[in-house]
Amino acid sequence: MKIGVPKEIKVREYRVGLVPANVHEIVKRGHAVWVEKNAGAGIGASDDAYRAAGATIVEDAEAIYAAADLIVKVKEPQRNERRMLKLGQILFTYLHLAPDPDQTRDLVTSGATCIGYETVTSPHGGLPLLAPMSEVAGRLAVQAGAYFLEEAHGGRGILLGGVPGVAPAKVVILGGGVVGAQAADVALGMGADVCVLDRNLDVLRRLQQQFGHSLKTVFSTHNTITQHCCEADLVIGSILVPGAEAPKLISRETVKQMQPGSVIVDVAIDQGGCCETSRPTTHDAPTYIVDGVIHYCVANMPGSVPRTSTYALNNATLPYVLALADKGLHALRDDPFLREGLNVYRGKVTNRAVAEALGYGF
Ligand code: NAD
Repeated sequence: MKIGVPKEIKVREYRVGLVPANVHEIVKRGHAVWVEKNAGAGIGASDDAYRAAGATIVEDAEAIYAAADLIVKVKEPQRNERRMLKLGQILFTYLHLAPDPDQTRDLVTSGATCIGYETVTSPHGGLPLLAPMSEVAGRLAVQAGAYFLEEAHGGRGILLGGVPGVAPAKVVILGGGVVGAQAADVALGMGADVCVLDRNLDVLRRLQQQFGHSLKTVFSTHNTITQHCCEADLVIGSILVPGAEAPKLISRETVKQMQPGSVIVDVAIDQGGCCETSRPTTHDAPTYIVDGVIHYCVANMPGSVPRTSTYALNNATLPYVLALADKGLHALRDDPFLREGLNVYRGKVTNRAVAEALGYGF
């Protein structure tokens, strides 16, 4: 099979669909990989590195879309890219179609088979191709919080881990899933006083087992959230209610009662945010202040560390890319979890949630 890797063209997107090491794995199986010139520049992977891995470097995206059976990307295809998709071609990338009627219409019209990373599932539960980005965001959340707690960045002037004789900062994590567990790991590693709130007792049990007694776990209620946020130096919002907008667990009133110079990193902002005063921000202007509390609400946090994010994503996508390369569409027949990723197939929307959200028949 011929696999194509175009350079990402979405604004400020530096990740790439395949790293050279994964290209090598695919080429070893007898497939051809075409990579657009400079596709890996954003992560420091040169065209020579791709050539050494066995790829053919091509001048432009047109050549890739014209020839490839399978296109591997990171972000949803932009209008220009959608124009080039062909009947029968397989597209494997993040799509996030439900809030995007224009993209959905174009993919339906293209006749291509479009598999969205975000809806691929796993026999062990969870979303295996979203999890790596949650891992990155969780670890980054603590890093961002520590930075903005510094006086020069507007914060309370407190060091996350304290020093001998001076108490550490209090970090409160709302939601102990993938983001929350990674945030807890980093915050504990930095010596902070860490507390995770979740309403799923199994999640709290698992975290307690994983981190021992240095981690405090608290059942999440309106009262416990208010109490812990008011005492916090750093609050990390990492709630997810699948398929729904994030509930506003931190009220405007609670923000008013928080310590001046404390920081809220609302990771759940891509689902609307779990704080009433949250609104999406960008890497160019990541924070704003409400009632003295710094809000960091960047909707695509992993974009700030494209190297780590690309490798993390590639580690997770490789088995699926190999299956699609080896078997084509039969890979979907053989793997019901990969099949969950199928969003558009030859002119039809094949994901129920997307179809219902956008009024397509299912
Ligand atoms: P997850 O499903 O692994 O974890 C979510 C947790 O929230 C679960 O443990 C669940 O029990 C808990 N929860 C739900 N309602 C709760 C409540 N009322 N009180 C306390 N806990 C509650 O999800 P995840 O992968 O950790 O993702 C968390 C959020 O981060 C999602 O909204 C995701 O979209 C977002 N995210 C954002 C970025 C970004 O760049 N901003 C990147 C990755 C993920």
